[in-house]
Amino acid sequence: MNRSSTPDNLALDPSDKGQHFRDAVSTISAEGRRNWLYPRKPRGWYYDVRSVVSWILIGFLFAGPFIKINGQPIILLNILDRKFVLFGTVFWTQDFHILAVGMLSLIIFIVLFTAIYGRLFCGWVCPQTIFMEMLFRKIEYAIEGDAPEQKRLNRSPFTANKALKKGAKLGIFFGISFLIANIFLAYIIGVDALWEIVTNDPREHLTGLTAITLFSFVFFGVFTRFREQVCIVACPYGRLQSVLVDNSSIAVTYDFARGEDRSLLNTRQKEKRDDGSVFFTNNDKIHKDRKYGDCIDCYQCVKVCPTGIDIRDGIQLECINCTACMDACDEIMEKTGRPTGLVRYASFNSIKDGLKARLFTPRIAAYMALFAIVFGLFVYFLGTRPEAEAVILREPGRTWNELPDGAYSNFYNVKIFNKTLNDQAVEVRLLHPAGEIQPLGLPDLLPAHELVEGRFMVFLPGSELQPVRTPIEFGLYSGDQLIHSVSSVFIGPQNP
Ligand code: SF4
Ligand code: SF4
Repeated sequence: MNRSSTPDNLALDPSDKGQHFRDAVSTISAEGRRNWLYPRKPRGWYYDVRSVVSWILIGFLFAGPFIKINGQPIILLNILDRKFVLFGTVFWTQDFHILAVGMLSLIIFIVLFTAIYGRLFCGWVCPQTIFMEMLFRKIEYAIEGDAPEQKRLNRSPFTANKALKKGAKLGIFFGISFLIANIFLAYIIGVDALWEIVTNDPREHLTGLTAITLFSFVFFGVFTRFREQVCIVACPYGRLQSVLVDNSSIAVTYDFARGEDRSLLNTRQKEKRDDGSVFFTNNDKIHKDRKYGDCIDCYQCVKVCPTGIDIRDGIQLECINCTACMDACDEIMEKTGRPTGLVRYASFNSIKDGLKARLFTPRIAAYMALFAIVFGLFVYFLGTRPEAEAVILREPGRTWNELPDGAYSNFYNVKIFNKTLNDQAVEVRLLHPAGEIQPLGLPDLLPAHELVEGRFMVFLPGSELQPVRTPIEFGLYSGDQLIHSVSSVFIGPQNP
């Protein structure tokens, strides 16, 4: 009997036998309590490659704040000072439109990538999976043993040995969470500011210390208790899978065409090979009308799953594409003399039709076109970004002054952003109407990638003024080159 949910993973009739997985979450019991998962330690080719990739990514994550390009960190997301650095290029709030279009193109890219490759990102690159499966889980296996030993330990009475194991595990977990919290903060405030918090008198950095402590406990809670729930219930990308993937998306998939009808080995016919090994055939001579598939219903793919699902039920929201079930099944296939890849990267359609996965579909073409347009816009904005930019505002709380020669004056505050990698000599000039500028504490030289602030006065003759508000335009010059112009207003009397 075929106990698979269905070969058609789009069937939506919950009354179907084997469809229970559609109405229940594997980590929630019928009483609504948490089903604590004990996934078996995976082993195999994919797990080994993922381990190597994980160590590289963890190394990069921890080294990131210390790597500098053009004197700037490789990535800085300083929301507090509204300064963002990507690959050594500084973006200020004035560049928000560039960041917004950049983010939009990133989102479209993620949608495009997911439509083709499913949740590949989650299994291989996502920090949550990498930390959980490749760091915290490995430490847990090392201290408490594989799944059966962990289960036994949790159910055993409280002894010195249990206290030692649990204490060591939680202590190491908190230490790593503390390190992760520091690194995440370094991506927000920069490694130099973080170093000040760590080395200076704690009373001077209470906010920073509170943030580190808070982050540490959040990470500790996530990796100690919340675990796979992040991927199943909290992650918005995970929740979006149902609209992002379709039957052409490539994901970790069970080959139901080859695997069904599944049955245990002892229900099958044994054959002896020339080398003396025993092979369990797929043809049952007792039930001649039945042909067994390659799945021997050993549940090894389920036992290793960190989200507690059965991949044979088809693509599911909970699947993070971690490949653990692929390794587990390949090992079983090798042991029983069958070809590997019963659970593999494939699309539902390719398995249904027995063809190679088709990557280029009309939907993918549409996403690609959209991505090309938005990314092109991003490149255009980036390429035409001025070398320096000024924000000029009339000084708040002041009106105009009348001078003895009949001219009028206003005070202005200015912020100038040098967006280049070099120091720049820049000057603010009055473009319109005719008048004079007198700088008050404006430096001549702008350091590379820095923001300077200053003030200046503008003098306009009465003949140039309009009643109350006169439009005024400033130019930011580098030598004789106008690099940016800014509009503002000049306040004057009703009848100048
Ligand atoms: S079904 Fe397989 S790939 Fe998906 S989460 Fe479980 S073990 Fe990982
Ligand atoms: S590991 Fe392979 S053979 Fe065993 S139950 Fe899973 S799919 Fe079937």
